[in-house]
Amino acid sequence: MSLLIVALFGLAFGSFLNVCIYRLPRAESVVAPGSHCPACGHSIRWHDNIPLLSYLLLRGRCRDCQARISPLYPLVEALTAAVLLADFSLYGATPEFLKNAVFAMLIIILVFTDLNERRIPHPVTLSGMALGLILSGLIVVDSRPLGWILRQWGIFPPAVLLSITGALVGALAGGGLFYAVGEAFYYLRHKEGLGFGDVMLMLMVGTFLGPALTLLTILLGSILGTIIAIPFAITSPRFRGYQWPYGTFLGIAAIYASLQGEALLRAYLQWSGFR
Ligand SMILES: [Zn+2]
Repeated sequence: MSLLIVALFGLAFGSFLNVCIYRLPRAESVVAPGSHCPACGHSIRWHDNIPLLSYLLLRGRCRDCQARISPLYPLVEALTAAVLLADFSLYGATPEFLKNAVFAMLIIILVFTDLNERRIPHPVTLSGMALGLILSGLIVVDSRPLGWILRQWGIFPPAVLLSITGALVGALAGGGLFYAVGEAFYYLRHKEGLGFGDVMLMLMVGTFLGPALTLLTILLGSILGTIIAIPFAITSPRFRGYQWPYGTFLGIAAIYASLQGEALLRAYLQWSGFR
């Protein structure tokens, strides 16, 4: 029963995320005016605006002008529901679930604005960063490497302080590493490789996930990007100067890290005999 409620909320929020994904890069309000077809401008009737169902019933076309509706709309709705369900089955009805759900939804917006338009809007990353820092005072952020270093010096800070510091260090590690890589890239190729949007994205991820999972996000995002980009670059010269949406890869990795990163790190530490 609760799974069904989470799924329905996921679909409804996904529908709102679609509005954010379309309007935020255009600096339009996400509240007003109501939804309308981008092709003919007709406002969309409430019964044509039901997540997933309307897309299927309308066979992916506008009722008024028959223009194709992007399949990304139902994809975002289904994806949001799926990620919230995964979060719920992991955390149950807890504050951790709410925090992870908010994080996942912020990331889903950025995954698709970067994919569609190579844009990572600052209003999303800035408010996400602020929210991540505030929440780190309420829900503990994983700060393992930091806690470990402090313990070596005989320092045992209170959990809340360690959590907030973990969020800050995570942000600095994520954003800082990305900034450094971007600068290096600029020197090497004399062209902007990584946008500042990616740096902002990683600052936000850092405040939510803390240092260990943030570095894991960068690692997994880079591997994912490489696995997808290299075959294209080898087979088609068209893709050699192609601007890949790095933020999309990082976002997918961040959601994965927020769900399975913990288990992955534990497995790695066990395997490497660290503990
Ligand atoms: Zn239309």
